[in-house]
Amino acid sequence: MTSERERLHNLFPDLDFDPEALRAKYRAERDKRLRDDGEAQYAEATDALAHFSDDDPYATPEPRDPLTLEIDVAVIGGGFSGLMAAARLKERGIANFRLIEAGGDFGGTWYWNRYPGAQCDIESYCYLPLLEETGYMPKEKYSFAPEIFEHTRRVGEYFGLYDNALFQTRVREVRWIEEEARWRVTTNRGDDIRARFVIQATGPANRPKLPNIRGIADFKGHSFHTSRWDYAYTGGNHEGGLTKLADKRVAVIGTGATAIQCVPFLGRHTQQLLVFQRTPSSVDLRGNKPTDPNWYANLESGWQRERRENFAATLLGQNFGEDLVADGWTDIARRIGIGLVNRRPEQGDLDMEEIALRAEIADFQKMNEIRARVDEYVSDEAKAEALKPWYRQFCKRPTFNDEYLATFDRDNVQLVDVSEAKGVERITERGVVANGVEYEVDCIVFATGFEITTSAHRRVDFDTIGRDGLSLYEHWRDGYRTLHGLACHGFPNWFTIGINQNGLSPNMTSMFDDQAVHVSYIVNEVMQRGHRTIEVTAEAEQAWVEEIVRLAGRGATAFLEECTPGYYNREGQVGKGASMQNSPYAPGINAFNALLGEWREKGDLDGMETG
Ligand code: NDP
Repeated sequence: MTSERERLHNLFPDLDFDPEALRAKYRAERDKRLRDDGEAQYAEATDALAHFSDDDPYATPEPRDPLTLEIDVAVIGGGFSGLMAAARLKERGIANFRLIEAGGDFGGTWYWNRYPGAQCDIESYCYLPLLEETGYMPKEKYSFAPEIFEHTRRVGEYFGLYDNALFQTRVREVRWIEEEARWRVTTNRGDDIRARFVIQATGPANRPKLPNIRGIADFKGHSFHTSRWDYAYTGGNHEGGLTKLADKRVAVIGTGATAIQCVPFLGRHTQQLLVFQRTPSSVDLRGNKPTDPNWYANLESGWQRERRENFAATLLGQNFGEDLVADGWTDIARRIGIGLVNRRPEQGDLDMEEIALRAEIADFQKMNEIRARVDEYVSDEAKAEALKPWYRQFCKRPTFNDEYLATFDRDNVQLVDVSEAKGVERITERGVVANGVEYEVDCIVFATGFEITTSAHRRVDFDTIGRDGLSLYEHWRDGYRTLHGLACHGFPNWFTIGINQNGLSPNMTSMFDDQAVHVSYIVNEVMQRGHRTIEVTAEAEQAWVEEIVRLAGRGATAFLEECTPGYYNREGQVGKGASMQNSPYAPGINAFNALLGEWREKGDLDGMETG
């Protein structure tokens, strides 16, 4: 029998690094950061912290009288998922609906995230929906936030959705009224809305989260979350010019995908910038470029769907042909072969262990390159060492930026490594305490992310009460229970568009649209066939839960267990609780869409009961 070392040597005779040493390093870096409190280390933006979420720096409140409405559908959320749901309803001729949105316009994530440098790291030609329909040509391969926000407005105009929108309105409760076979939706505006159907489209990144640390409400300086950027305080706009920070000491807490984008701007404009880093991000080349109008004009009808499917297949290692997107995402995916089960024809009869080993080695190589990039940009050795990520590529969301690393070469930028202490410890009236030192600052910017994988209820600030007074979150107490991630038993005429128990893709807008198409089909069928209600049967729901768990297997969980903590692995607690049940549909978004397509084709609303 060959030893692991011999096997490695036989497969990779020319390796210039020691995989065992890297494995040990990764494990040590993970263990250093693991915390017993897991997701409980975060505070909800409620009570004394409510302003971090509730304040809207981008709109003036517009008073209006409470509404009493009888409608066909209440769509909750005006980000891309709600917009696509509304658009697909309109397409089917359903017009008597309202779209209820907390912000002052459409956009969701792109309404709220206006921080300097905000950009989507998914290629615009895949990410911006309805490009063919609206005839819009994205300016660049990667769109900045204002362009994406504008596109949500464009989609709103194109489908005439502004007439259906209730902006600056937060849902307070959604409750099923059995006698009327209606949902009653109440809001912070005193509205009383009766809707036949509800589509909850509240998005995965809609609620900011904050570290649950002592003193966070005591700070006497200025502070805000990145998704509520306060340009009145900083000056400037998305493109920079934060001139009011010229005499300010600013702390940024967090170094995830958001911080990577805004830190270069803060570095340029602050008197002093302190970046509190617990785990460095992997920062790869961005390489943005303007769209070539000739190329764009000559794309053939249907190109956007083809491109999206090509991107999804490439990410899953299922595309053996041309990589149309050919960027950092697909490069990583092709090299480390996240679709381990998808053998490339030229690989012949590899055994699974060997495939996994090859993927791991490719991952080490990729991350070695990422770490080498840090040395290219950062001359201070200690800073450069601290900025190197020691984990496998998909343990955290990969980031792509061409200015972030160089920012740390600036004299006014200090990196405060808080990995040993497992995070910043405390906030005082004057500043941030880390590693036992108090750093006095004028302003704290929380780049600490969103309630993405915390409990379903924490991700929305209202309850949904179904048949027999059952709360949705009670129904999901031990994990998600749905059919196709879209509807559940005990909640008639209720649908959700989201990220659990369905085909997941980092190209979120595309998956939201696919779900919107499906949900609008069901709503339309119920109305056309003259039914009052439709509801997932208990058996179909159970069967889907079992299918999700069966397909998830142990592979992804085992991978994430080895990872440094973060929201991808529920802060290191991925193996615990209901995580297998909350998994996406493992065969991927293209397979999921094919499954939904066949379901619609059959036409018998399989697994659902009408009344
Ligand atoms: P993340 O959740 O990715 O990052 C939060 C950051 O806060 C992490 O660096 C985390 O450290 C740090 N943090 C949390 N608590 C503490 C603490 N007590 N002390 C010090 N640091 C702390 O949030 P982001 O807003 O950066 O990104 C969220 C998601 O939004 C992304 O993953 C992505 O899905 C999306 N996004 C997408 C973009 C795009 O281009 N499409 C751009 C920006 C965001 P640690 O890692 O150690 O937990």
